[in-house]
Amino acid sequence: MLILQVAIPRPLFNYFDYLPPIGIDTNQLRPGIRLKVPFGNINYVGMLVNITNESKCPINKLKPAIHIIDLNPILSENELGLMKWAANYYHYYIGEVIATALPSALNQGLPAKIKPLIGWKLAKTNIQLDNLPKNAVKQKAILNLLQQHPQGLTQTFINSSLPKASPSLKTLQQKGWITTELIDIIPNKTIAKSSHLQLNQAQTKVVNQVCNNLQQFYPVLLDGVTGSGKTEVYLQIIQKVLDQGKQALILVPEINLTPQTVNRFEQRFAIPIATWHSRLNKDERLHTWLLAKDGITSIIIGTRSAIWIPLANPGIFIVDEEHDLSYKQQNKFRYSARDIAVVRSKRAKVPVLLGSATPSLDSLYNTTCKRYLYFKLPERAGAAVHPTYYIVDMRQQPPKESLSRQLIRAIKQRLAAKQQILLFINRRGYASTLTCYKCGWVAFCRHCDARLTYHETSKNLQCHHCGIMQPLYIQCPECKHSKLYLLGQGTERVEEYLRTKFSDANILRIDSDSTSRKNAMENILEQIHTGGVDILIGTQMLAKGHHFPKVTLVGIINIDSGLYGSDFRSSERMAQLLIQVSGRSGRANEPGEVIIQTYHPEHPLLTKLIQKGYPEFAQAALKERYIAAFPPYTYLALLRAESIDKPPLEFLEQAKQLAHQCENVQLWGPVMSPMEKRADWYRAQLLLQALQRKPLHDFINQWLPKLPVSNNKKVRWSLDIDPQDLF
Ligand code: ADP
Ligand code: ZN
Ligand code: ZN
Repeated sequence: MLILQVAIPRPLFNYFDYLPPIGIDTNQLRPGIRLKVPFGNINYVGMLVNITNESKCPINKLKPAIHIIDLNPILSENELGLMKWAANYYHYYIGEVIATALPSALNQGLPAKIKPLIGWKLAKTNIQLDNLPKNAVKQKAILNLLQQHPQGLTQTFINSSLPKASPSLKTLQQKGWITTELIDIIPNKTIAKSSHLQLNQAQTKVVNQVCNNLQQFYPVLLDGVTGSGKTEVYLQIIQKVLDQGKQALILVPEINLTPQTVNRFEQRFAIPIATWHSRLNKDERLHTWLLAKDGITSIIIGTRSAIWIPLANPGIFIVDEEHDLSYKQQNKFRYSARDIAVVRSKRAKVPVLLGSATPSLDSLYNTTCKRYLYFKLPERAGAAVHPTYYIVDMRQQPPKESLSRQLIRAIKQRLAAKQQILLFINRRGYASTLTCYKCGWVAFCRHCDARLTYHETSKNLQCHHCGIMQPLYIQCPECKHSKLYLLGQGTERVEEYLRTKFSDANILRIDSDSTSRKNAMENILEQIHTGGVDILIGTQMLAKGHHFPKVTLVGIINIDSGLYGSDFRSSERMAQLLIQVSGRSGRANEPGEVIIQTYHPEHPLLTKLIQKGYPEFAQAALKERYIAAFPPYTYLALLRAESIDKPPLEFLEQAKQLAHQCENVQLWGPVMSPMEKRADWYRAQLLLQALQRKPLHDFINQWLPKLPVSNNKKVRWSLDIDPQDLF
């Protein structure tokens, strides 16, 4: 008797056994096909994972599956194996892991069939752009784009290349110049391609080594300062991969913020390039996923979840900015796409390239213990040189001034020289604290253990953790005093200050508030690149891989929270952010300057970073980790619990009692989380630590099934393997 082991998208650890659908040719049953199965009172779309001939349940209790959905597997054995591995490693529900990996259309049971997308095409070929009115810039741009893509383009693609294209598309349609049609392939450029650059010595070494090892697992950490030519290395290796008829998957932290990356790929390769990000709609996702699975697209660039896209012929995996926190999913299935990329490459027997100007301490450690090969690109490619750093001691400045005299002087010089300035501050809004000096009251969120931030644009108080908004208090709710003070600097406040101080300058703010509207970021980038901006002020959004060739001065307004953060990774993150933001300066021909304002100019990690650079900082930070027995020298798992009416300490205490004695695993806590309450849920945690990975996982395997089911009404909990923060 054939028994089908099926994964169901429910929070359950095991597979469920079914009999084959009635009347089916059993040859059609293969792992990797979807099935409709009854479960409780609901029919689910499940994934056939194994076929066996025995079951723990009596055969007469088993129900038959209702029907098969796919005639051919939509996941290969290897891909299914990767998902099983991930479910095991992260101790997460197999059905939910698979559901995370599939596009929503497939989770809903829609056919895995490539169907054409609706898109725009030129209606006639003899377009004379000169006949358009002079000011119809956008219309011309659209026609230009469509001329380059005769097979048609989707609206999403056009919008990502040309912000606010929709009205002009309508106009051109009314004129009869363009039409909507079904297009059957993802956007493809056929324009002239940029050619390879002549590689420098360091680049040549990496490209040669990787290309000599394309047929095996070859994990590489590519440590190259910003602008050292990492992307060029990727491009040339990918060319070799394509020559062998294989596919390349590239992970990036952000696509919408950094369209330049995708542009460079499009300019180099005369084949379709698929992108994968949160703005794709359901159809586009399915389309991209299937084209990759069938080997029709050879280059896929995407954010975190792209790591699950199936590939017919994987040739290489690349993780750009491998240190970036966005690769770790921070809820539910808490996987690290970077780590999955390494495992996936190993299974596929192909190289994996982890690139960064500020590699994570984890990856650096992996190079010293020879798990990864290590290549360095020490110099900036082309003419650009490293920026120069200056530390400004804010204790020597007039109180309450957010910008030091030195920074103001430097800004004036750059403005006079018509160069761009970038100011970084890690806090959005206007002021981070509203307080009464008379009684000491501070405005806190009712639902969180957090202060409310005042926003000048919306003139209200906001909680950045639960999102609640409320009007500004007009008097102190405690002592009724009528004068309240706004303390702390946010992007809006610095912007306001700059506008009064440098009234002639064009100032632009970039944070998640100013970029939340659709296409806002594209507009902003356009303004920056056409040179219409003198001073950019923003949050870490600015640090994400942008090319701002005209920026020659970077001002870091305050980094002190990173120096004394409560997390063991705080200083690593601070250093990465500082170097990444600084890397925006002097990327072209003008030398760059970085001014760092701090109240702790003697902090040893800061001075090491500035005087000796990131590599020496990293070595020092690794020593500290070793002494403190933190990762990468130990392995962690964090059991996070939340409950509504009181802190979930009792639950965690119980969980600890349920743990069996194990010499190799230590349990720390339970303790309240650094943020004790968020959105009305009290938060606490229990930390598991081990010197080796295996005993930790063996321990969890025995322990987890004993815990009561996570329950949204009482106590909900989740286990975070390799947590990236301990909040
Ligand atoms: P990264 O990805 O490390 O930031 P890029 O690959 O974007 O660096 O390179 C930075 C700049 O240097 C780009 O403008 C690129 O065209 C240029 N560049 C890269 N490699 C070379 C090279 N070998 N010769 C000349 N210019 C190069
Ligand atoms: Zn008061
Ligand atoms: Zn809140």
